[in-house]
Amino acid sequence: MVACVVGTRPEAIKTATVVAALRALPGLETRLISTGQHAALLTRALADFGLAPDVDLALMRPGQEPADVLARGVVAVSDHLRSAPADLVIAQGDTTTVLATALACHYLQTPFAHLEAGLRTGRAYDPFPEEKHRVLADHLADRLYAPTALARRNLVREGIAADSIRVAGNTVVDALKSIAARNPTLPFEPPTPRFILATTHRRENLGAPLERICRALRTLLERDPTLALVLPTHPNPDVRATVEALLAGRPRVLLVEPPAYPAFVALMRAAALVVTDSGGVQEEAPALGAAVVIVRETTERPEALAAPLVRLSGTDVDTIVRDAEALLALRDASNPSPTTSPFGDGHASLRVARDVAARFGLAIPPLPPGVPAEWDAAGDNAG
Ligand code: UDP
Repeated sequence: MVACVVGTRPEAIKTATVVAALRALPGLETRLISTGQHAALLTRALADFGLAPDVDLALMRPGQEPADVLARGVVAVSDHLRSAPADLVIAQGDTTTVLATALACHYLQTPFAHLEAGLRTGRAYDPFPEEKHRVLADHLADRLYAPTALARRNLVREGIAADSIRVAGNTVVDALKSIAARNPTLPFEPPTPRFILATTHRRENLGAPLERICRALRTLLERDPTLALVLPTHPNPDVRATVEALLAGRPRVLLVEPPAYPAFVALMRAAALVVTDSGGVQEEAPALGAAVVIVRETTERPEALAAPLVRLSGTDVDTIVRDAEALLALRDASNPSPTTSPFGDGHASLRVARDVAARFGLAIPPLPPGVPAEWDAAGDNAG
């Protein structure tokens, strides 16, 4: 029995193809557990892949802080695993869920695998609280699925045994490819065909940085009347308050509820520029050839910066405007835009399933011809 634990939308997206690959292994049962940390977005993202949680630990509370989620998560995951033991537990992404799961597994002496291990900025509070959660969870894991060779190097540098790490690629590329193959359509008509797609939700951007991001978006629209803004507003009330105060009701601005994943993929494909502080979007956009301004000071995904149309711009208004205009001009000049996939080749979930099959002595599913056993093992894609 393998248990996969997810807490919010990004993990649901990044774990869905892993669950499917594990369920394709004859002789293995796979249980999908939701901590329900952000229940609505999570359930909808799973449904896009034809999945629903087998167990919902329903941890979400209004105004929850990481300490509450972590404390309640450790208790809920360990209570669940005591009543329904697993031989291996895999968790990905939302780092509070991951750390809670890692600790619960440690107390029960249940093997724990961290999917998307080894992401680092080296700064304790950026991203916060993710950076330290990731370090702690990685040191509790006995199997680490690193997305890239760079992530593997980060782990080895911290003294983690190299033979416990597998460079699988990032499962987000698997998810993206499976959705893009369905050719999803735009969920609505943007105000003009040429538009910026913006998403912001990071804790360290709340308040003044988010205000600066909104001001920069406003300036970009004022300087180019052919440009519109589509901004899916994150459910966090602090994000909503700032975004609505600075952008609602302005010309060519469309604030929308967060679209389902297939619709969001269609928006990323159609956008002239993506402005984001999201981790997942940073990984997806280069694979779609989208131009991206990352509105953060640092990134734990520097592999993206090797892509020709990606800039790490921080949250200074002038820098965002300058970088965004430069990228818009570059993208206008390059048709079709170059696509790069530093984060994977779409076979990460299969690599995880192969490793799990080997652990339990099951038949190992083959890789397609020419696909390497590890992604980017030599670091050729690390930038
Ligand atoms: N996403 C989505 N709809 C949206 C915004 C994002 O489906 O309105 C997807 C996006 O493509 C990516 C994931 O959700 O796969 C990222 O979620 P988010 O930005 O909330 O979290 P992060 O990746 O920063 O943890």
